[in-house]
Amino acid sequence: MGAFVVPPLVNPSAHGSGVRTRRPTVALADRVKTTAPNMAGMPCSVGVLLDTLQGEERDALVHMLASRQWSQAMVWKALTDEGYEVGMQSINRHRGGKCRCAKANR
Ligand SMILES: [Zn+2]
Repeated sequence: MGAFVVPPLVNPSAHGSGVRTRRPTVALADRVKTTAPNMAGMPCSVGVLLDTLQGEERDALVHMLASRQWSQAMVWKALTDEGYEVGMQSINRHRGGKCRCAKANR
């Protein structure tokens, strides 16, 4: 016993050299600048879902959004349980007409 030595996970001599990514870090910042204006005309995640759903499923979501008995958290959980990806805060924002799709329609 004692002969088995676990090597260190990080090689001290490689300090600073192993963290480089293929792209420069400003690429993400550039992406934010170039993508943001285009997003202004797009519907929010709730609006996208309303566009995606059809028939009874869409009616059900419209009903949920219109009903006060369905809280933001309840709607979000129902959608998440069904496998839809919607931002929880997008639900009340969409309800209140404060989301991107409301702005796009005016
Ligand atoms: Zn919306």
